Amino acid sequence: MTLADAAIDLRGLRKTYGSLEAVRGIDLRVERGEVFALLGPNGAGKTTTVEILEGHRTRTAGEISVLGHDPGRNEPALKRRVGIVLQQTGVDLYLTVREVVEMIAGYYPAPRDVDEVIGLAGLTEQRDQRVKKLSGGQRRRVDLAVALAGDPELLFLDEPTTGFDPSARRQAWETVRGLTALGKTIFLTTHFMDEAQALADRLAIIADGQIVASGTADELIGATSAATRIRFRLPDGAIPPDAAGARVAGSAWEIETDAPTRALNLLTGWALETETPIGDLEVNRRSLEDVYLQLTADAEATE
Ligand code: ATP
Repeated sequence: MTLADAAIDLRGLRKTYGSLEAVRGIDLRVERGEVFALLGPNGAGKTTTVEILEGHRTRTAGEISVLGHDPGRNEPALKRRVGIVLQQTGVDLYLTVREVVEMIAGYYPAPRDVDEVIGLAGLTEQRDQRVKKLSGGQRRRVDLAVALAGDPELLFLDEPTTGFDPSARRQAWETVRGLTALGKTIFLTTHFMDEAQALADRLAIIADGQIVASGTADELIGATSAATRIRFRLPDGAIPPDAAGARVAGSAWEIETDAPTRALNLLTGWALETETPIGDLEVNRRSLEDVYLQLTADAEATE
């Protein structure tokens, strides 16, 4: 495999701002056709990384390939193949949605059909409305339509659903899924763990300028610590068998385990045998959010 085979390949990326090391040697690989999410707390280095990939910032060190090009060279041949949805973009508010998309499409050699782009962005009903009249969430969709106009192979989405209501978020997710069905590669930054879990094939967590974990959501959830949490209540004075590995958690008991069947068997077997009622039994898989909070807290603690 060479750097150029993947949609994005980053090796040893570093970026310093004066004495601040914002990105401290990160490696990332995004395959073609994949949705990849970059997660991390405020100030972790996400925007810096993404803007270097987009060719909007220079790097201090590292090798980068985006669709086989070095984005630092600002080649038009690369720019035509990449779409970018920034957190805020400026389009002419007095144009209609269709006029905006048509205008942008005009800059590209092989644009996607304008009405199809509007449909993909979920704006068919608003097609002839001026952007000025649209809601905040609908304007974000115009930004997406603008990014799609040139029919890019690779799309950067920077916090695409911030400010959306729950149903608009679900619609945006459907749009992203529609884009992957068309074979697009998507690089997403988000603060929403459910979004990353719902959309990303693979993800990376960045904390303090370094990647602290990467893989599929399942790999991340399985890799850090026990993947299942069992919670329950017992009558005062009742103590579950040692082998179940339970510990007191507030007014309840908790078991964290990678072998939930065995732990539940021990617990419920003991309860039946001793006629001890188990209350409020809950069995939950750790969420990506649990993993994220643990990893980013660990990174902060080792600073
Ligand atoms: P957020 O989630 O808040 O958008 P982020 O992960 O995108 O954060 P960056 O914007 O990449 O983080 O910032 C990483 C670090 O680099 C921060 O400490 C930030 O203050 C610093 N930084 C970012 N841009 C510059 C700049 N142009 N000049 C100096 N320092 C900068």
